[in-house]
Amino acid sequence: MRITETYSPEETFALGRQTGVLAQPGEVYTLIGDLGAGKTVFTQGMASGLGITGAVNSPTFTILQVYDEGRLPFYHFDVYRIGDVEEMEEIGYEDCFYGQGICLIEWADLIREILPERYIEVRIDKDLERGFDYRKITFTEHGVS
Ligand code: ADP
Ligand code: MG
Repeated sequence: MRITETYSPEETFALGRQTGVLAQPGEVYTLIGDLGAGKTVFTQGMASGLGITGAVNSPTFTILQVYDEGRLPFYHFDVYRIGDVEEMEEIGYEDCFYGQGICLIEWADLIREILPERYIEVRIDKDLERGFDYRKITFTEHGVS
């Protein structure tokens, strides 16, 4: 487990960017945090770190957005509105989860049963006692002994 504290959106973007720079083929990241926590800011940083230059937003109405122009394919999932895990099968999630690109899954709690054994959880928490712009960002590697 690794904890980083940020005090501005720019710092969260930079942390995402660093994560994107270091990301290795086949990695799956899950992104947990309430609305307004900074998931999109982190995601945009990660995309930037992968060398993706176009606009990256929450794919709220599409579940999956694919970006091919970076160092590695970037599969950005937002499963917030998913009704059933079968919807993931319809969009061919397995090719993404078990391929050579980088997956980032927002609201991954909702598809817990199909998460791969190995993934990196990124959790963004606020703590208002530390200020409105404070975020605690916790990385936890799952499935690694
Ligand atoms: P989410 O995608 O989790 O709903 P967003 O990334 O869209 O959240 O929005 C996060 C909001 O919080 C933005 O308005 C951003 O400017 C603000 N913010 C303030 N401090 C931070 C911080 N330390 N890290 C990330 N975002 C922050
Ligand atoms: Mg968002």
